[in-house]
Amino acid sequence: MAGNITFTMIKPDAVAQGYIGPILTKFNEGGYTVRAMKYTRLSRKQAEAFYAIHKERPFFEGLVDFMSSGPIVACILEKENAVENFREFIGATDPAKAPEGSIRKLYGSSIQQNAVHGSDCDENAVIESNFFFSQFERF
Ligand code: ATP
Ligand code: MG
Repeated sequence: MAGNITFTMIKPDAVAQGYIGPILTKFNEGGYTVRAMKYTRLSRKQAEAFYAIHKERPFFEGLVDFMSSGPIVACILEKENAVENFREFIGATDPAKAPEGSIRKLYGSSIQQNAVHGSDCDENAVIESNFFFSQFERF
């Protein structure tokens, strides 16, 4: 059975451009409930650990530089079938291929600087949530 939470980050590009508010509004309009939220910044080491699954990919170094370049907003979101629904909701990794009106189309500017993260499976939603939040920070 699909889980009901996913993990997201508003990435440094979107935070720097003042899009925290509009993106939180989009989460709300999409029917997602914020269950935990934190404004923070990843060190290089933390960004490497978070994206360790991609360490052999050619874009890894650039991704780590980007994700540690400025503050982010980490959130746990709740909705039915959250992981799959949220990935569809935010649009394709490449904003140019994301649907009109989606978060990545509206607020992303490149395949790297694509405004938001979304967990890719229930197991990773839990792992990624635990990366940023203790159980006492959720309700
Ligand atoms: P995310 O994991 O951030 O939700 P995703 O699951 O759509 O995005 P992944 O394949 O997991 O995409 O890639 C992780 C992140 O790495 C992307 O969101 C993007 O910031 C960056 N990235 C992916 N592919 C490329 C690429 N070809 N060139 C540059 N950066 C990339
Ligand atoms: Mg991914």
